[in-house]
Amino acid sequence: MEREEAMSFALGWMSRFARAFDDAADELGELDRKAGDGDFALNMGSALRKMDKALAAQEEPSDAEVLTAASEAFLDTGGTSGPLLGMWFRELSRACHGSCDVESSAHGLQEGVAAVRRLGGAELGDKTMVDAMQPAADAMREAVADSRSLPEALSEAAAAAGRGADGTASMDARLGRASYVGEAAEGLVDPGAAAVALMVRCASEEACA
Ligand code: ADP
Ligand code: MG
Repeated sequence: MEREEAMSFALGWMSRFARAFDDAADELGELDRKAGDGDFALNMGSALRKMDKALAAQEEPSDAEVLTAASEAFLDTGGTSGPLLGMWFRELSRACHGSCDVESSAHGLQEGVAAVRRLGGAELGDKTMVDAMQPAADAMREAVADSRSLPEALSEAAAAAGRGADGTASMDARLGRASYVGEAAEGLVDPGAAAVALMVRCASEEACA
């Protein structure tokens, strides 16, 4: 995704994430190979390519348009992570129908993790992407209550998501493929949680840029 014109926040965010994902894909793939079936990074790469293609056809897409393209691309992608991330982005795009400011982003993160939990049935501590999404949403909500700016709020959300993802290493998986492999997933960070933490970190970097 190379663009010269003025970018919306969400387009800058997704461009950053696509670059960060390129660097992290091998590691994320390896985690899912050990704890699952190994398709996580392939699924995510495929969703990002679909999103890129949809966005290339749009001139200066707004925050909501970028997030809708992300949602549709993930919903159209296989694996458990595809539809779940698709629902997460769908709630973000709904909340950011005007643009991504601190309140709308906080609201989108709350609604997003609620949708993922409804659809996937995961609770905190089940060693899934929810373990990064929920702390990010909670940190954003607290930051809004403290009247923080978007960069400040997202930087707190990114730190919370990172801690949440790191914490999955010591959890036992109760859901998803990692729950079938038992000891093989012990000590490993959940790839979905790691990817969500990376996404929120990229959002924070974009807001601070
Ligand atoms: P699959 O397990 O179908 O191959 P992926 O490899 O695409 O799916 O995605 C695996 C990731 O999906 C896991 O790392 C985990 O974060 C997430 N996941 C799996 N099951 C659930 C669930 N029920 N709720 C939330 N996230 C889940
Ligand atoms: Mg998998």
